[in-house]
Amino acid sequence: MANIRCVNICKSYGGLRVIENLNLDINDHEFVVFLGPSGCGKSTMLRMIAGLEEISDGTVSIGDRDVTHLPPGERGVAMVFQSYALYPHMSVRDNIAFGLRRQKVPEAEIDRRLAQVTALLGLEPYLDRKPKNLSGGQQQRVAMARAMIKTPKLFLFDEPLSNLDAKLREKLRTEIRRIHLDLKTTTIFVTHDQLEAMTIADRIVLMRAGAIEQQGTPSEIFDRPATRFVADFIGSPT
Ligand code: ADP
Ligand code: MG
Repeated sequence: MANIRCVNICKSYGGLRVIENLNLDINDHEFVVFLGPSGCGKSTMLRMIAGLEEISDGTVSIGDRDVTHLPPGERGVAMVFQSYALYPHMSVRDNIAFGLRRQKVPEAEIDRRLAQVTALLGLEPYLDRKPKNLSGGQQQRVAMARAMIKTPKLFLFDEPLSNLDAKLREKLRTEIRRIHLDLKTTTIFVTHDQLEAMTIADRIVLMRAGAIEQQGTPSEIFDRPATRFVADFIGSPT
C-alpha cells in the first residue's frame, strides 16, 4: 500500500516561506502530476516526500506509516531526476545493481531483478557499456532502471524528460505510464509542461507559489479551470 498523505506541510528556507500549509492525499496506484511554473515548489514537495529535504512543519505519511522523520532509505521510495547522475566509471549493469549490492542483496536475486527491469526498459544490449557511450534517452532509461530495481512502492520523477528531444520525450512518457501500470506503483511526476501533464496524469495538482491552485483530472482542469491563473497556464502554448 502506498497512499500518501501530506498534512499542513510548510517549508521555509531561511526566512522565506516556499510551501504554505499544503494538504494533499494521493491514492494507492494513482499517477499524480505536480504541475506549475518554475519556482512554485514542485521539487521541494517531492524532495520532502522522499526525505531528501527536511519539512519545516506538518507531516507526511506513506501507507499507514508516518515517515516525517524517517531517512530516505526507509521510506520505500525511489526518485528519478532530470540529470541522470550515473556513475561514469561503472558499466550500465553495475550502475543499475549498485543500490542492491550496497544493501547486500544476494547476487542471484540481483540478477533476477536486473533481467526484469532491463527487459522492461529495453536495456539488454547496453549492459556492458559505460554511460558516456549511451544516448541521453538511454542514460535516462538506466536512471529509471536503477530506481525501479529497488521495487519501490512510490515512484517520484522530477522533470525526468526535460533534457530530451520531443520525440523521445513522448516515447519515454508512454513507457513511464506503462511501467506504472505494470508494477502497480504509486507515482508522482513533476513537470512544468502542461501538455506532458495532460497526457500522463490520472490527476493534476497545479501549484502556484507554494500552494495548490487547483487539482483534478486533466479534463476537469482543462474544461473547468477554477481561476484565471489556471486557464492561462493550461491554455498557454509550450
Ligand atoms: P520548482 O521545482 O517548482 O521549480 P522549487 O521547489 O525548486 O520549485 O523551488 C521553490 C522555491 O524555493 C523557489 O523560490 C526556490 O528559489 C526556493 N528554493 C529551493 N531550494 C532552495 C534552497 N536549497 N535554498 C533556498 N531556496 C530554495
Ligand atoms: Mg524543480
